Parts: sequence; C-alpha cells; structure tokens
Amino acid sequence: MLEIDSIFSKESVLSSHIAGFRLRPQQLEMAHAIADTIANHRILVAEAGTGTGKTLAYLVPALLAGGKVIISTGTKTLQDQLFNRDIPTVRSALKVPVTVALLKGRANYVCHYHLEKCLQDTHLTFVDREEIGYLSLIERYARNSKDGDKSGLREVPENAAIWQMVTSTRDNCLGSECPNHKQCFVMEARKQALAADVVVVNHHLFFADVMLRDEGLSELLPACNTVIFDEAHQLPETASLFFGESISTSQLLDLARDAKIEALMGARDFLPLPDAIASMDKAVRDLRLTIAEENTRIALTEVKRYPDFIPTLDLLVQQLTLLLKLLENQAERSEGLENCRMRAANHLYLLQRWRDDSEMGDYVRWIEVFHQALQLNATPLSIADIFQKQLTSSLRAWVFTSATLSVKKDFSHYNHEMGLSAVQTASWDSPFDYAKQALLYVPQGLPEPQHKTYTEQVVAAALPVLRASRGRAFFLCTSLRAMQRVYELLQATEDFDFPLLLQGQGSRTYLLDRFRETENAVLIGSQSFWEGVDVRGEALSLVIIDKLPFAPPDDPVLSARIEKMAQEGRNPFMEYQLPRAVINLKQGAGRLIRDEADRGVLMICDPRLISKTYGRQIWQSLPPMKRTRDLAEVEYFFTKQNSK
Ligand code: SF4
Repeated sequence: MLEIDSIFSKESVLSSHIAGFRLRPQQLEMAHAIADTIANHRILVAEAGTGTGKTLAYLVPALLAGGKVIISTGTKTLQDQLFNRDIPTVRSALKVPVTVALLKGRANYVCHYHLEKCLQDTHLTFVDREEIGYLSLIERYARNSKDGDKSGLREVPENAAIWQMVTSTRDNCLGSECPNHKQCFVMEARKQALAADVVVVNHHLFFADVMLRDEGLSELLPACNTVIFDEAHQLPETASLFFGESISTSQLLDLARDAKIEALMGARDFLPLPDAIASMDKAVRDLRLTIAEENTRIALTEVKRYPDFIPTLDLLVQQLTLLLKLLENQAERSEGLENCRMRAANHLYLLQRWRDDSEMGDYVRWIEVFHQALQLNATPLSIADIFQKQLTSSLRAWVFTSATLSVKKDFSHYNHEMGLSAVQTASWDSPFDYAKQALLYVPQGLPEPQHKTYTEQVVAAALPVLRASRGRAFFLCTSLRAMQRVYELLQATEDFDFPLLLQGQGSRTYLLDRFRETENAVLIGSQSFWEGVDVRGEALSLVIIDKLPFAPPDDPVLSARIEKMAQEGRNPFMEYQLPRAVINLKQGAGRLIRDEADRGVLMICDPRLISKTYGRQIWQSLPPMKRTRDLAEVEYFFTKQNSK
C-alpha cells in the first residue's frame, strides 16, 4: 500500500502528469479501499462526494493490480473521456504496459452487410435525398475507417434515420454466417475487447451484451478479475430494463422491412410471402393506433381502457404465426431469410409470453407508448436475485461507485435493490467547503405541490432569486409539463430579459454549449439536465428545483413494486420511494458546486422539505450548506458575490 501512498503524494508521478493535482485525503483513502477490494476479490459500494476525484481513486489501484478489468460508466461521453483522457494519463504516469479497449453497443458501428443491402435496395426503402447523400458518405467511411465507429463520421448527424439501416441489431446480425464476417467492425471491436487488459463499456452494453445475451461477448466477463461501475446509482434502473423482456412495434416493422428485402432477393418466386409480410406489417401499425396517447406508460391491468388493443394484439399474433410458417418453408434459401425466420420465432415467443398470464408471475407487464411506436415490457419486480447470481458466479472484485448512493450514509436501500449482501460500504464527503460556498434556500409561503397554481407560485418565488443571481441558473423540473409551463411563464414575464434555453430546443451538448457561451442564461430542463452535467464557475450560480423528485406513483413498475412491498408487510415509502427521491435530489443538487472556487444557491421550492417529518432526512442527506428561508439573505449572498 506504500506504493499507493507515494503515487498520490504531493510530489508524485500524478502531479507531474496532471495539472493542478493535489493530495486529497478522501481520494487516497478511497484508492486504498479499492486496492484492498481488488486484492481480496471483495465487493465495495463506495460513495464519493463531488470533487473527491473518484476516477483516479479507482484507476490507479485497478491499473496497478493488473489482470483484466471492465470499467462500466453511465454514458458514451464518459466512456470516451475515460478512454481518450483519463486512462492514457494514468497509464503513462504509472508506466504500466496495459492495453485498453473501448467497446460500444453494436448500433455504434457501421455494418457492412446491412450497408450493402441498403445500397442495393435504395428504391425499396423510404429515404429522402438528404439520406441518400448520407448513404454515400457512410459507404466511403466504411471503406476507409479503421473501426467503423459512427462517431467518427461527423458529417452524418448522430440521430439521422439512415443509421438504423446501416447498423446491425442483435436480431438481424448474421454472426458467423455473415458473408462480411471477416471485415466486420463489431466483431473486430469485440476481438480487441477480449484481448485487452482494460475494457471500457457503458451500463447499457454491460447488461445487454456482456452479462446477458450476446454470444460474441460471452467470454469477456468470465475472464475478468475486476468490474468497476462508475455512476453506479444508475444500475437499478438499467438492470431492470435488461433483466426484463420487451418487444416493440419498431422491431416488428424492421422484421417486415428486412423480410421484404430478403424475399425479393432470395425467394421472388414464392408468392404467399409478400402478402403475409404486408398483413403482419399492417397488424403492427394497427396495434400502435389502438392507443391514441403518446409518451405514456400503461400497466397491463389498465389496458381495458383501450378496447381494441387486445383483439389487435391477438390478430398480430395470428399474422406473425402465419409469416413464421412461410419463412420456415423458405429459410434454407438464404442466410437473410433464415435470420428473418429466427427473428419471427423469437418475436412471436415474446408476444405470446407477454399475452399469457400464467408465465410471468414475478414480472410486471406494461406498455410504453412513444410517438410512432409502442413497446410491450415485462419488468422483474426485483432485480436482486438475478443480479446476485451474476455476482457470485465466480471469484472477482466488484466496485460500485457514485456521488449518490446512500441516504445519510445508509446504503441499505441501494444494497437491497441490487441484491448486494455481505458487502463493504464506504462514504467520503466532498472536500468542498459547502458552508461557505453554498446556500440552501427554501422559500416561504408556497402551497403543497398538488395545488393547481403550484408552478405559477414557484415561478413567482423564483423571479427575485433569478434577478439577484442575474440569470446564470438551471431551473430543474420534475416533469416535462412543469418544465414547459415554467418556460412559458418566464417568457411572458415583463422586465425579465435573461436568455432562456429550454430542454428539447437542441441536443443536450448543444444546449450546454449555448448555456456556457451565453451570459446570464437560464436553462429550463427536466431529467436530461438532472445529472451528468458539469458547468463550472459563475455561469451556473443558481439551481432551482421545483419539487422533491418522487417518481410518479402511477408508473406501472413503481406501483407494482410498492404493492408487492406492502404485501410483504414492508414500508414502501420509507424503504423505496424516499431513498430514491433522496438519491435523485442529490444528483440535481450536485450540479451547483463543481470545484473549490464555485459559489451558488440551491433553491428547493417544495414546502414538504420543511413541513413533513421525512423532510429532515432529505436535507440532512444534502451536502452541509448553510440553510435559509429568507429571501433577503439570498439577495445578500449574490450581492456579495457580484461585488467581488
Ligand atoms: S457479422 Fe453482423 S454486424 Fe458484422 S457485418 Fe455481418 S451482419 Fe453486420
């Protein structure tokens, strides 16, 4: 352990490689705890407040220990940051000869097979002129690129529809049967990941591919000595998503599209096939039309409100059964037809399971409705047992770290949810001086959040604070509806001319860049800006939170979990809803103070923070800021700041 002490010391290799590096006792302690966890194949759940420097605290012991390491992080941006900046810096500081690979989900790599199909069949698919232009750029890129990562082709926007046609899914990849297997970018990225010492993935990829299903990666986890989850507070959500089952109308329409192409190319003389594909395609589209709403979640128990849904679903099952029979008849004529047969069989299996009551006792079945598509989901009521099996399947170290995992240093909610028993937990406070740097303001006189003019009153209370801070604020709302209303109200306010930015007016990166560049801006956002956003300095001096972020109780998964806990004689509010809200609130609040020089006010408008007995538990979980209910004190705080 001496080695770790000297690496983190004042005049160490780190200080010569990292500008502004200083010894932070919390970081050193955390590095020791992680080194110990790795050496003894333990499980550590570690909360490290903002500014602890947790990335270095896990990279140094992980790279020193050797062996194979998987680091999983919340987003692709953080993945890129680790791969391009943090790991190379630590590797060269420590002079350890480790090889590193970056692995993304298969949708990030151009697929030669589907690109070729697309080029041959542009007349078959609906593409506009702009997309045909993109297609030729992608074709050139696929010929010249070393890794086929779509982020390397900036001329084609990340969200262009064409990407769906020229990348693969787990469903439509032909794997070893593929004629392009040898030059395949996905296979190459996986080969490099299997050979590397350190592999950087993201949580979605980890659960979807590494832990669960994709055969090409089945050797990755067994070979690995250490798994480190950064941003680990996101895992319960991600794991629920991937330990469940789902089938969407988009997947079924993709199948119809691909089957149409394959039938034309490989079974043109078999006339019943195009008709069966068209009927299945129509049944899928009709199913989406049975629910008029969009962007909503509906429990299966509520589906009776949509009388056409179940009959249309049954019709779809019939049409898909017929299509499967015909594909079985023709599958041996080409790999593409065989792939469609397998997908039809798998989709039919999932649809029937979702429809059948008897099979899914421990799952909650629900529908997520989007603008054009809908998805049938079956989510496990608890992920604990499933995850625990993965943890204990072989001897290795697991580290779960984030700035927000506990409620007043109590990790029982997180551990229980993830099925982590007999684990070590540790918590390091942020090194920032919150009492000096930040003020927590809860305005007086606001009604309970269900009051019909709540948002109007929140905005009225926020206006003097926004004026005092001269904009430079995030206004974070717990719902999209409230976010929209706040925007309208601020826009309509006379003598309020700070530039307003609204979530949805561009990508998150675009809006953040605008926010940083625009003086006195106010960014109004919801979930997208609640976490993973780092704006340092004066540009962000005020964070306003409209309500305590309790998940909506009518969410199908949440309400089924609450019901189950109540049946078990537990207290779902204290054990589940409150800790989740606390962890969310800590994330939102964490946007304010990002380094030692930052100063600012956190305004939480929800009066329950004071009026309810659980409110105390919430504010005590926040960093130790000075607290006030007095607007004059807030105004004085900013006057002092502005005069510096
Ligand atoms: S193996 Fe799969 S991903 Fe690779 S080129 Fe073939 S179909 Fe595409």
